[in-house]
Amino acid sequence: MKRAIYPGSFDPVTLGHLNIIKRAAAIFDELIVCVMVNSSKNGMFTPEERVALIEKVTEELPNVKVDCSRQLLADYAREHGAKVVVKGLRAVSDYESEIQMAMINAKLYKELDTVFLYTSPKYAYLSSTVVKEMARYGADLSDFVPRQIITQVQNRVNEALER
Ligand code: ADP
Repeated sequence: MKRAIYPGSFDPVTLGHLNIIKRAAAIFDELIVCVMVNSSKNGMFTPEERVALIEKVTEELPNVKVDCSRQLLADYAREHGAKVVVKGLRAVSDYESEIQMAMINAKLYKELDTVFLYTSPKYAYLSSTVVKEMARYGADLSDFVPRQIITQVQNRVNEALER
């Protein structure tokens, strides 16, 4: 069975992420979408909330599992029997740091390979940061995040603004 991991911060999951999730799920037998917790970065959503949002938007994808980890990606992959990491590439500027991460991961766990999926051009501009920025201005989020989570994202951003 070919199990792959799609790691990221997903703070929150966007339509760009979901596009990569669906395409990777069609290529591999099982895809683990893993919220990687970076202790130096405090997100808008807690890791558990991010997992719940991803679960909500991937409900209809039976071979997609969602998890959250504080481990090194290479250790997580080894422990979960995954030998492929999936990454989405938006622009050439993503490439340099992604290729470096891919090489580090292969150094830490020799069998671990990384595959890159190019972004769908419709989502090339999209990032979680853009979503939060747009939500702060009350913009319509329907082109940015899956419809099931629009209200939740908007509410959280409003709460943060009120604080
Ligand atoms: P961001 O906060 O920039 O959205 P994440 O850490 O959550 O980034 O991203 C996880 C992975 O998803 C990375 O491989 C990133 O390149 C990819 N990704 C993020 N946004 C998109 C998009 N719009 N299209 C394709 N891939 C994307």
